[in-house]
Amino acid sequence: MARKLLVLGEVREGSLRNVTFEAVAAAKTAANGGEVVGVLFGESVSALGAEFVQYGADRVVTVENEKLKQYTSDGYAQALLAVIDQESPEGIIFGHTALGKDLAPRIAAKLQSGLISDVTGLEEEGENLVFTRPIYSGKAFEKKIVIDGLIFATIRPNNIAPLEKDEAKTGDVSSLSVDIKDLRQIIKEVVRKATEGVDLSEAKVIVAGGRGVKSEEGFEPLKELSDVLGGAIGASRGACDADYCDYSLQIGQTGKVVTPDLYIACGISGAIQHLAGMSNSKVIVAINKDPEANIFKVADYGIVGDLFEVLPMLTAEFKQLLV
Ligand code: FAD
Repeated sequence: MARKLLVLGEVREGSLRNVTFEAVAAAKTAANGGEVVGVLFGESVSALGAEFVQYGADRVVTVENEKLKQYTSDGYAQALLAVIDQESPEGIIFGHTALGKDLAPRIAAKLQSGLISDVTGLEEEGENLVFTRPIYSGKAFEKKIVIDGLIFATIRPNNIAPLEKDEAKTGDVSSLSVDIKDLRQIIKEVVRKATEGVDLSEAKVIVAGGRGVKSEEGFEPLKELSDVLGGAIGASRGACDADYCDYSLQIGQTGKVVTPDLYIACGISGAIQHLAGMSNSKVIVAINKDPEANIFKVADYGIVGDLFEVLPMLTAEFKQLLV
């Protein structure tokens, strides 16, 4: 069955986030030949419409308004409801990001529709669109369908491959004028913490440190390896609690959920709360001097040894391979 779907694009520092392209790919499957309409909000975002189309959207609707310069659930909800009103879609796909996790349930509840969050896969089975999502901290997967109302889904970053960019593809980019009522929250300032470079939740490679790194300086060999691999730094709560790094790097049940292609856990014991945030990574390498450490149970490759000896050797090897 063909469906018309919207995809809410996310803009960070003037560029579309990768999760937007993944959401378009998911929407293409879900639309089953129907139209996929990209949606962009901001102060000045129309220029990004062309790239949205090149990654698979059939056309793009923008709402440009200075009140949408920063994300607020209040402002975005007003804009999205106006687009839904204009387009009458059968569903909306979001990234499973801070924005998507905040906005999708709000609009779904408002429209009395269900929401399937943290989707890692989807397929058409007969007349039904079946979504797959992890449960019990990634120990099992459940399959869900929407039986009534609009389809709302948030897509976990790094799980559904984006379509190949087609530079020749063109599509209409139109703007919708929405009178955004006074916002109940106003963002005065955005203060960026710790993370420079690659965004942790979208990183293809993560080098994560635990209490075993022993100090803030102990993260240096992890950073060197991460730089060579073009990755991002993550951490266990143990490392954050010990003040070796910022909480924005925490991965796990009460931190970020990540699914990179490669996760290198250094001096992390593998507590269940940490595994909840990384066990769905595609390849897991663990470096720990305790051969009994729990992290080895989920690791594809385990190195029993001192991380301060192992990491420089790995970095040197990768430098040779990648230069
Ligand atoms: P430790 O358990 O102390 O492990 C350190 C490891 O480093 C050991 O295995 C040791 O053998 C190894 N090591 C030491 N020195 C070296 C060396 N030189 N070379 C190699 N290996 C070495 N934790 C999270 O990570 N994320 C969460 O989101 C999270 N949420 C939680 C929520 C709740 C409600 C609770 C109760 C706990 C949560 N925790 C979370 C904490 C979790 O239970 C663990 O305490 C924490 O993950 C331990 O961090 P760690 O592995 O870095 O430290």
